[in-house]
Amino acid sequence: MNKTVVITGAAGVLCSTIVEDFALRGANVAALDINYKAVSALSEKLKDSPGKVKAYEANVLDKKSLIDAQNAITAEFGGCDILINGAGGNKPTATTEDEFFSINEKVDKTFFDLPEEGIDFVFNLNFKGAFLTSQVFAEAMAKRGCGQILNISSMNAFTPLTKIPAYSAAKAAVSNFTQWLAVYFAKSGIRVNAIAPGFFSTQQNKWLLYTQSGELTPRSEKIIRNTPMGRFGEASEILGAVYFLTDDSLSGFITGVVLPIDGGFNAYSGV
Ligand code: NAD
Repeated sequence: MNKTVVITGAAGVLCSTIVEDFALRGANVAALDINYKAVSALSEKLKDSPGKVKAYEANVLDKKSLIDAQNAITAEFGGCDILINGAGGNKPTATTEDEFFSINEKVDKTFFDLPEEGIDFVFNLNFKGAFLTSQVFAEAMAKRGCGQILNISSMNAFTPLTKIPAYSAAKAAVSNFTQWLAVYFAKSGIRVNAIAPGFFSTQQNKWLLYTQSGELTPRSEKIIRNTPMGRFGEASEILGAVYFLTDDSLSGFITGVVLPIDGGFNAYSGV
């Protein structure tokens, strides 16, 4: 595969799987993460892959660090063909303790207690991070007249999940931005799509899915009950969709879609 793939949040559970897959297919992969140690370890692990994986430290909320990474990537690989906006996630400070408000029930963290800092953090990381990174990397694509952008939205963008208002709203913004950017670049040879993973068991959400002793939490039991396939996803199960949506020969007339990968969660009313 004679392509250069730039991926942010590359050291994460889902994104490192994507990095590995592209490297196995022989692509050059620029793996960007705010956690340089983790992303360097990933590139070291993949050093014998058919494709070259190079680690870059970059913060998706710091445009200068993205521009520095872009300059280094251009020098190394000659430009970006596929951009994957993978950096994202939720935070405990943007998460309520209760699912439904009750004036009679005493909990430490209701909607009214969520600090502005937590809401800003989650909204910025997911939405603004994809926005700024696209600004930095899509300009050269637009000049060349070709390129692919893949955003990572979430199941909670379609219908918000309880407890995580900022993350749900931020991912809804990512889906909306995917459509906006797809239309904006439709005549410029750049396709923009997104995947919407359902429930995968990863570093990001393990504190929500499992108790300290490794049992399913009551919330996870509810998730599994509402996932017709009856299980969490495996990280490798997003790869087919990623490859499909970023390959012109497979999906050349598809732009502006948000593809659920969720074991049927979004299709199920629960009855
Ligand atoms: P993860 O938590 O395992 O990894 C996130 C990575 O992003 C980490 O390596 C972290 O260092 C990096 N990062 C954090 N802030 C950054 C910043 N400012 N700049 C650059 N990098 C930064 O997450 P994941 O499970 O791999 O998720 C990848 C994407 O998929 C995220 O956008 C997430 O919201 C989305 N998603 C995940 C799930 C799931 O079940 N894991 C479900 C739906 C959507």
